[in-house]
Amino acid sequence: MNSVSLPECPICGGNEIVMIGEPRISTQAAGFVYGDYHVTKCKTCRFYFVSPEISFSEQEWEKLYGDEYFGEMTCWWARKRNKDRIQRLDRLQEYYHRNINKFLDVGCGEGYVLIEALRRNWVTYGLDISDNRIDSAKDKRITFLKGDIFQASFPNDFFDCIYMDSVLEHVLDPIRHLSEIRRILRKGGVLYIGVPNEDCLFNDIRKLLYILSDRRKLSVHLKPFESPYHIIGFTKESLTKALDKTGFEIVRFRNFGGEYEWRKYKFFTEPFFMHLCLLPLHLVAIPLKKRIYIDAIARKIDL
Ligand SMILES: [Zn+2]
Repeated sequence: MNSVSLPECPICGGNEIVMIGEPRISTQAAGFVYGDYHVTKCKTCRFYFVSPEISFSEQEWEKLYGDEYFGEMTCWWARKRNKDRIQRLDRLQEYYHRNINKFLDVGCGEGYVLIEALRRNWVTYGLDISDNRIDSAKDKRITFLKGDIFQASFPNDFFDCIYMDSVLEHVLDPIRHLSEIRRILRKGGVLYIGVPNEDCLFNDIRKLLYILSDRRKLSVHLKPFESPYHIIGFTKESLTKALDKTGFEIVRFRNFGGEYEWRKYKFFTEPFFMHLCLLPLHLVAIPLKKRIYIDAIARKIDL
């Protein structure tokens, strides 16, 4: 494959970049997509990104992330999500040497994490490019800012803890974002970061299905122009490299998720059956450590 005109890897600086396919384009995004985009992969750190860099206006991004971004889910799944959030915040407190005081959720969405942080009497801040908070997350004690992390321009060493779930895969420049997160975090402060795992078994099987169904030109990795708009993608190697490069030490790493996806949907609906059929695949992925998500708790260290 030709790698001469491709840029260097924004994570490790490596120049062994390969094109792995064309991105899929949804009808909603079709009006904005004019360039000839490719999904590419760094062979050194296994980071995935779109080339050339996507150039959408702020209004176009906002249009893509409207209310419909948050789908309906079952009560069981909502309860599970809530339990997961509680456990994550418990872990963050465990790994922080002091009591958490100032807390920020980057990409707070509907605001469930903000509600949980407030319940713990943490000084709670939420940030998102559009305000999709449910009513109870609009509590006056929560400071909400609309915009990105750079527009918020928080002071240096401000937060004890920053939570960033399903956000980093949506940004064009992850190193710049993580550097900004580090700047506003106190020394020893902790960051929760969760992203999809590009190195999952589900992607391997999907790739095989694409080849068999004559869609081999399309990439199974990233969804830059289709909900949920993942424009970059991580593996254990590339996430570790990105955190290391920006002055974080990983204190906890997990590969998780997949086996309960079928319980997200109402019984006997089409997605329910589809995800139930995929259950054996998710179970096989457990011992192979190729499950669909990865997350880390990382501590700010001296550079
Ligand atoms: Zn790389």
